[in-house]
Amino acid sequence: MTRKFNFSAGPAMLPTPVIERALAEMLDWNGSGMSVMEMSHRGKEYMSIAARAEKDLREVMAIPDNYKVLFLQGGASAQFAMIPLNLLGDKGSADYINTGMWSKKAIAEAKRYCTVNIAADTSGDGFTSVPTQAELKLNPAAAYVHYTPNETIGGVEFDYIPETGDVPLVADMSSTILSRPLDVSKFGMIYAGAQKNIGPAGLTIVIIRDDLLGKASAICPTMFNYAVHAENDSMYNTPATYSWYMAGLVFEWLKEQGGLQGMAEINKRKADKLYAAIDAGDFYGSPVARNARSWMNVPFTLADAELDVAFLQGASERGLVTLKGHRSVGGMRASIYNAMPEEGVDALVAFMQEFAQSYS
Ligand SMILES: *Cc1c(COP(=O)(O)O)cnc(C)c1O
Repeated sequence: MTRKFNFSAGPAMLPTPVIERALAEMLDWNGSGMSVMEMSHRGKEYMSIAARAEKDLREVMAIPDNYKVLFLQGGASAQFAMIPLNLLGDKGSADYINTGMWSKKAIAEAKRYCTVNIAADTSGDGFTSVPTQAELKLNPAAAYVHYTPNETIGGVEFDYIPETGDVPLVADMSSTILSRPLDVSKFGMIYAGAQKNIGPAGLTIVIIRDDLLGKASAICPTMFNYAVHAENDSMYNTPATYSWYMAGLVFEWLKEQGGLQGMAEINKRKADKLYAAIDAGDFYGSPVARNARSWMNVPFTLADAELDVAFLQGASERGLVTLKGHRSVGGMRASIYNAMPEEGVDALVAFMQEFAQSYS
């Protein structure tokens, strides 16, 4: 068996030890005589799996006690509607920072429910930068400020956490959660679809400060109401049981890697190596401003786009797959989440150097 180095933006690689553990427990979880997939979510075995996952996530992220952790479905995309439906309260507007494709989708959805004030917009430079704090035009009367700390498609990442005073900060962390330590207390709410850096698709994690619960609008569907999920420990209905279990295995794995501090060191090294290879000459290029370069999603172009096909072909022959860039950006994109081993980045860098030499 050979596992490829899969640079997919999502669903993405999972750590091999996690998959091996799942395989070992597949038919008979812990002497229960059944697979986790076959368990009642209300049974004591599954309840212990679910509780353990939450406990480990709280530990890994150092989530303060006044935050609820919800294990939901519907992807980050469902959150685009759930956020205004739950957080507007008696306010009629919210601030949104527009830094790329995912911000835009969040904004389009929010506009169905409230007045959206665009606090900053980097479309002018093709979404290749992040606005500075001074550039944010924040409305002190806004219900919340929404932003996308890491734009998965553009490969643009904030190098700071926006300061929003008393207005709760809401972050779509789908592609950057768990990549490094984070001060959760700076946020009103953090959310992430699982399939990038948490586990398999089908699960969405929401970390929300207590005082933001219970303000859902009258038209908010029950299934979209955070307070309902919080009161029911995310078991108001059947949760994505197997994805939740797998996420729990990933959290255990993270603890073995030295937690988020350990991950941050590895992730920084991986990103530095890849950007160094891109910057090494004129053969490759990155469209993203240096201070805004993502640690997780690294888009790059070949100066001669005619060579794209040969590059992808050569990479694939070396087991380096899913490197084609998003259709809106072109070129290549290497997503290097926690589960991408450093050897995968080393192999990509070695191939990039070899390819550049043979075509220069
Ligand atoms: C992938 C992604 C989404 C969409 O996630 P779904 O789970 O497919 O709804 C939203 N925001 C960001 C930043 C993403 O990377």
